[in-house]
Amino acid sequence: FDRNALNFSGGPGALPAVVLAETRQAIDAVPEIGLSILGVSHRSDWFAGLIEQTERDLRALLDLPDSHAVLMLQGGATLQFSMIPMLLLRGSGRVAEYLRTGYWSAKSIAPARLEGDVRVLWDGERQGAGFRRLPTADELECSPEAAYLHYVSNETVEGVQFHHIPGLDGVRRVCDMSSDFLSRPCDPERFDLVYAHAQKNLGPAGVTLVVIRRALLDQVPPGIPDILDYRAHLQARSIYNTPPVMAIYVVSRVLRWLREDIGGLERMDALNRHKAACLYEVIDRYPDVYTGWAHPADRSRMNVVFRLPTPEREADFLHRAESAGFSGLKGHRSLGGIRASIYNGMSLAAVERLAKFMTDFARHG
Ligand code: PMP
Repeated sequence: FDRNALNFSGGPGALPAVVLAETRQAIDAVPEIGLSILGVSHRSDWFAGLIEQTERDLRALLDLPDSHAVLMLQGGATLQFSMIPMLLLRGSGRVAEYLRTGYWSAKSIAPARLEGDVRVLWDGERQGAGFRRLPTADELECSPEAAYLHYVSNETVEGVQFHHIPGLDGVRRVCDMSSDFLSRPCDPERFDLVYAHAQKNLGPAGVTLVVIRRALLDQVPPGIPDILDYRAHLQARSIYNTPPVMAIYVVSRVLRWLREDIGGLERMDALNRHKAACLYEVIDRYPDVYTGWAHPADRSRMNVVFRLPTPEREADFLHRAESAGFSGLKGHRSLGGIRASIYNGMSLAAVERLAKFMTDFARHG
């Protein structure tokens, strides 16, 4: 295999080279403490300091006010599919509204139904002909009485991404930003709860960031075990039980890279737009060879999903791409086709290499 293969997979995604270098060193010994990151006590002062610094860096990047708390949890984004309706729907007597825009938002609905009534406001499998497009603001009839509105800002599998914030500002807005968190500015004050697992843009799997409006925790329904109660994690400053120390360390390095090397979320956004444009431009230039999956207005800047005319051409494309050092381009098992995931850690130079490969493939077959 290619020792320098480029990771275009849907996740866990590519991480910046400087972060990988720091992590290699930290596995040997974290410079400040002389211990391997794989064997540092989560009860140490150093680790408490790391949690605080990580939170400070995240707040600075998002310009996050104190009305919102930051939590670092385990269980992935999937556990949030259950923790959210336990907190906001259970016993509320109200209806939670969900946008069903792709594979992952579809997965989030069944756990919510266990806690109360759910109304699917938009089903992109039908209206969007196989999750190819997202609703416009006019197409959503949101109720001002809803317990909350839940949506996924970027559907990782289908490559559709919201470029506006749906919902009513008076209704709690909850968003799974797992596959585009910190890829662009996100106006966190307009959300009551945002969650994102680390393994796309932030670090390795193991930690999930939750940004939650503190006022949501004033009324927690009874019967929730502590481990699933956001208050327990807030009180314990994200060290309720043994956290994934190494994953949090890597996230802290990525946040520093975003602030110092990239220069913040506006800059990251500009770079991500440029990266995505490189690939969509090739797709649009060779319509006989490539067909983009998403409606152009809803194209994702993180997951570029497309097809070739036949399964044989797709297999040939994937085989040649793999030999050329482009790893992970096979589409999600539920959809097939090709998916190039270009998270924050994927460099512009690497994306340009893929664009050139795609151009050569289209020209010369
Ligand atoms: N939401 C989105 C948008 C995802 O892309 C994924 C996984 N790729 C999940 C949720 C599930 O995440 P996890 O495996 O961390 O539970």
